[in-house]
Amino acid sequence: MYLVVVGILALILTFPASPFPGLAQRLPALTLVAAATLAPAAVAWLTCRRAVRLLEAEPEDPSRGQAAYGRGVTISQYALALAHGGVIACTGWLSFCQRLPHIDWIPGLPGLVAATPFLMSIVFVWIALYPAERAGRQIALEHGLFAGRPVHPIWELRNYLVFQFRHQVLFILAPMLLVLVARDLIDWNKDDLIARFKNQDAPDLLLGVAAIGVAIVTPLLLRYVWDTRPLPAGPLRDQLETLCRRLGMRCQEILVWRTGGMIVNAMVMGVIPQFRYVLITDALLERMDDSKIEAVFGHESGHVKRRHIWFFMLFALISGCMMTVISQYLRAERRWFEVLLIVAGALMVLKWGLVFGWISRNFERQADLFGVRTLALTGLPCGSRCELHTAQGNAAAPFAALDGRRLGREPLCPTAAHVFADMLFEVAKLNGIPPEAPSWRHGSISLRARSVEAMALDPGAARRFERRVGRIQAGILIAAALSALWAGWSIRAWTLLGISL
Ligand SMILES: [Zn+2]
Ligand SMILES: [Zn+2]
Repeated sequence: MYLVVVGILALILTFPASPFPGLAQRLPALTLVAAATLAPAAVAWLTCRRAVRLLEAEPEDPSRGQAAYGRGVTISQYALALAHGGVIACTGWLSFCQRLPHIDWIPGLPGLVAATPFLMSIVFVWIALYPAERAGRQIALEHGLFAGRPVHPIWELRNYLVFQFRHQVLFILAPMLLVLVARDLIDWNKDDLIARFKNQDAPDLLLGVAAIGVAIVTPLLLRYVWDTRPLPAGPLRDQLETLCRRLGMRCQEILVWRTGGMIVNAMVMGVIPQFRYVLITDALLERMDDSKIEAVFGHESGHVKRRHIWFFMLFALISGCMMTVISQYLRAERRWFEVLLIVAGALMVLKWGLVFGWISRNFERQADLFGVRTLALTGLPCGSRCELHTAQGNAAAPFAALDGRRLGREPLCPTAAHVFADMLFEVAKLNGIPPEAPSWRHGSISLRARSVEAMALDPGAARRFERRVGRIQAGILIAAALSALWAGWSIRAWTLLGISL
């Protein structure tokens, strides 16, 4: 669903008016908008009826019903994307919204109005899917009770809708609205800006700066968009805070992310410490013991300490710079317009489709290794023959000698690697994900588990892997610096500073 929401909202953000307004008249366009709002829900309702029937007929083996429900969700998403993408691209809907009387002077509002049919359509789809969702949860609840696991009551429609809206829509919509406001403000003052900076590209550059600003403060926004609260005082909080201090990892707050027991997960967000949060879901806290929670926390700290978020920002910056360079060429060279566009599109698909996934999987494995090292720092008792703990002299020592700020050179403890691998399998099981299931951004659970355990036994492999990630990061840094220079040169960025060459 994320992709559909990001895609449609990005269309609204990118195009002030439709690129192919085939249907510019008011009445047919509005009729199509209404149809696009209702049609996906009808599709969802039809597919979900079958899922409910199957779930009710075979409660002992809900797999067929669940598969039918999964297919229904996917088909409804395609329907949403097609219907609303089509309306935005091919009718005059965006232009109507830009010219609405009374509100056309409030930045961001015309764009929000343009997105409203899409947002309503999503809610209708969820209402249509809810009976199947509920039937599935009912069966899971009965299984949970039978197995003696902690269970949460099944959500009423209202709670379900609020949760879905906050987690699937609002967390994208809120930061995008900020960018939309910035875009409108810049767009309306375009001529002034160009005149003041004596540069055609000043408005675009300013929008780029605004987008970076939004990316920095977004974690603060998400803290409230999602249902979170600070991790209550207690032994666990003390342990995690001690870890933060020893690792030299600064964050604004450790938050419990309340998902009604639905999601077993953790994440860290935020580029700078003032806007950085570590989130741990309620279900993870409920179902895992403290050493495994520390392992999860160690993995998230690894993303911070190895600066993964910075490198992803740089990676995105490369795209921005390349777009700038290409748009400069387009301005000069009308003849090669189509060819350039296709080349640019292919490069973007390659970059985000293949390279991004590969980098992300390497970063995840580096964070896993960091998680293993963090576990050793917590004083996990070690029973195996282990270079780290023999060097420390005492298998149960609290490892005061380990410097948490400089983790990375010491040998890996196989016991810690084993606990970490166990944690990975447990997270997969609790989320109902098969350990072998491939994951584009993370790599499969069993692959990650095998990899940390193998590296704990072979220090040479661990060093080689760390060097490889180092080379990847250096590559990103060099590519970002070069493309920033190229983009700066192509838009004559020095003129912005009043320097003439
Ligand atoms: Zn991760
Ligand atoms: Zn050990």
